Amino acid sequence: TRTPVNVTVTGAAGQIGYALLFRIASGHLLGPDVPVNLRLLEIPQGLKAAEGTAMELDDCAFPLLRNIEITDDANVGFAGANVALLVGARPRTKGMERGDLLSANGGIFKPQGKAINDNAADDIKVLVVGNPANTNALIAQAAAPDVPAERFTAMTRLDHNRAISQLAAKTGAAVSDIRKLTIWGNHSATQYPDIFHAEIAGKNAAELVNDEAWLADTFIPTVAKRGAAIIEARGASSAASAANAAIDHVYTWVNGTAAGDWTSMGIPSDGSYGVPEGLISSFPVTTKDGKYEIVQGLDINEFSRARIDASVQELTEERDAVRELGLI
Ligand code: NDP
Repeated sequence: TRTPVNVTVTGAAGQIGYALLFRIASGHLLGPDVPVNLRLLEIPQGLKAAEGTAMELDDCAFPLLRNIEITDDANVGFAGANVALLVGARPRTKGMERGDLLSANGGIFKPQGKAINDNAADDIKVLVVGNPANTNALIAQAAAPDVPAERFTAMTRLDHNRAISQLAAKTGAAVSDIRKLTIWGNHSATQYPDIFHAEIAGKNAAELVNDEAWLADTFIPTVAKRGAAIIEARGASSAASAANAAIDHVYTWVNGTAAGDWTSMGIPSDGSYGVPEGLISSFPVTTKDGKYEIVQGLDINEFSRARIDASVQELTEERDAVRELGLI
């Protein structure tokens, strides 16, 4: 039998955590034959609720779930971690300046990066979900000098999935017919969902749609503002779809992209497509054997270039701000 994989989830008692843990335990994160140990990391006020969730996990009698540990000590929470899902973050509250948001999150992600550096397994893979996800990932990565930088990633898979769904609705295609869609840049309102290289049942998506006004005025803003639309409709932020995207991100990273397709991940830039090296930005990537590679050689038209540049500019400003705060 396989050795269990240690999966750490921070913010485990939150609403995304609640939607995430049961799917990890039922085998959707890594595969149907991979046993898991769960480590739930919470702040002290979250421990009791995490214990309640752990009771429910026990009550599911998941065959793949070996054990659950609950802690508020990051050194314990990341001990031997193979996969870490950093969900807990300090949300932006009314009237909060960006600097305050970044420093509050620095207080979370810097010590967590160090704890990962000092305690995680050698093959640790990190996904940051908590916002601002790209910059939180950068802070954690900078605090973990002994971990290869490429193991720190940020989630843009929800944006990717949202874009596929919107494109399917517009064209009447099945979601499974859509390939090679790309989210570029920051997981924020400036993100750029790119359909110029996407294919629908093998045909170029932008040519099929043939409607630049729809792209600029409907598609892009609908994808970028979907989170707000969900809050408006549901009275609470997206949770199950965010958890689903986190599952997809890690599953694809570990198990590979399909031939003829790619996915979107926020990853440290190697300078490709003019994105400054080191910024954690979303790119089109293929994955294989637990490693990812940026898809190279795509033609970037003017429409796309301006939008990628604007999102990357925002990432640069966030990086400069956390540098000034001494967080990286
Ligand atoms: P959620 O579980 O709803 O959200 C957690 C984080 O995910 C937020 O930063 C949120 O960003 C982010 N997020 C990313 N993508 C999405 C998306 N598409 N939709 C919604 N959220 C998204 O938050 P809760 O408040 O329910 O739970 C947070 C938990 O984290 C609490 O239990 C708290 O105790 C814990 N926590 C733990 C820490 C730790 O382990 N050290 C540190 C801080 C908090 P956004 O705010 O922008 O929506």
